[in-house]
Order: sequence, then structure tokens, then C-alpha cells
Amino acid sequence: MWYAERTKMRYNAVDRIFYDAIKIHERLDIMERYPEIHPRLIGFDIDCVVADTMEAFLRLALADYGIKILPEDITSFQVEECLPVDPAVINTIFARLLAAPIENGLQPMPHAVSVLTELSWHAPLTFITARPMQEPINRWLQHVLPDSVYRNSRLVAMGNHDGKARYVKKLGLQYFVDDRVTTCTELACAGYFPIVFEQPWNRGRHCFASIDSWPGILKSIRVAEHVS
Ligand SMILES: [Mg+2]
Repeated sequence: MWYAERTKMRYNAVDRIFYDAIKIHERLDIMERYPEIHPRLIGFDIDCVVADTMEAFLRLALADYGIKILPEDITSFQVEECLPVDPAVINTIFARLLAAPIENGLQPMPHAVSVLTELSWHAPLTFITARPMQEPINRWLQHVLPDSVYRNSRLVAMGNHDGKARYVKKLGLQYFVDDRVTTCTELACAGYFPIVFEQPWNRGRHCFASIDSWPGILKSIRVAEHVS
């Protein structure tokens, strides 16, 4: 009896996974039927999407702590779970990048600025980040974006990794680009369309639409060129 109950529970869990996968694929079909995304409807995460936070993390780890880490070593969004590095060092590096991104040399992802500039011609840009402090990353955006692009942008610093769907709704978005699979799942469950920005810690771990570069945002999701 106990074995039968356990087996039943296991099959129920498998059914749930398949059911979720079917729901997700239905969403992808919807996305393919509406391939042109109005720039007003898409928002962006900051770290590891707009900002090359991984490059900065690896560079600071080597330069200031003598720790050589390769991008492919980071196989989990929770970095401390996959690196044999003192968590205190990891926390210190991230704290530096949160509080002083410009001073610590945080760079935009390749081609992010040119693509964001193009999108800003059509609609305000929207950034939603889990970062707890708005001012440093706001200053960073002002630093890296052309002035006209920065002034045509909105920024939310949530202070929490979970709960982005609430802001996506509040800001009138439908699509959101993020590197955290848990966030993308949350958005899909809330009826929105996540787009995973591929990174070593999310590759092969989801069945959402994805891109692996900023030119891919224009190419793959085909943002409408002539929209008001
Ligand atoms: Mg991110």
C-alpha cells in the first residue's frame, strides 16, 4: 500500500511536469503567431542581460582575490553553490558591483547599448532589476546609455529576486528578458512571455523562448520597425 501510494504520487508529479510543459509550449505557439513585439511591451533585467555582470565578477575575483574562475564554472544562479570559493568573497564582490558599478568597471553586454538605442526610438525602455539599491544602477544606466536613450527609460529596483510579474503587469509589459529561469517560470505562470537570455547557468534548463545575444533580440523576436 505504501509503495502503491508513493508510485501514484510519483506519477502525479510526472503528470504535473508534462502538463506544465504543454502549457509552456502553448505559450510559445502563441508567441510564434505574434512574432512582432512592440518595443513598448518588452522589458529587460539588468544583471547578465544589459550589464555584463559575469565579466565583472570574474575580473574582480582574479584581480583582487587571485581566484581564477571561468564562465562555464558558473553552473548555478546561486554562484556560491557551484564555486569552491569562500562565500564571503563572493558576497563582497557582488556587494561592490551593487553599490559601485561604475567604479568597479561594470560594462554593458556586447551590442546592448546599440540595440537599446534602436528600441528607444519607438518606446520608453523599461528595466526591472532585483537589485536593492536604485541609485547606483540608475547612475550606471545614465553613464552607459546615450543621454536621449537614458531619459527615455524607466527603472525599477525591486530589492527581491521574486515578484517581477507584479511590476511587469504594473508597467504594462507583456514580454520580459531575464537570465534567471525561476523568474521566467514565474512570469509564464502569470500569463506573460519570458525570454531567457542564455547564460551557462540556464542553458538547457528551460523550454522558454531564448536569445544568446543582443542582436538576437532584434533578429529572433523581430521587433516591429515601424511602430508608433
Ligand atoms: Mg539577471
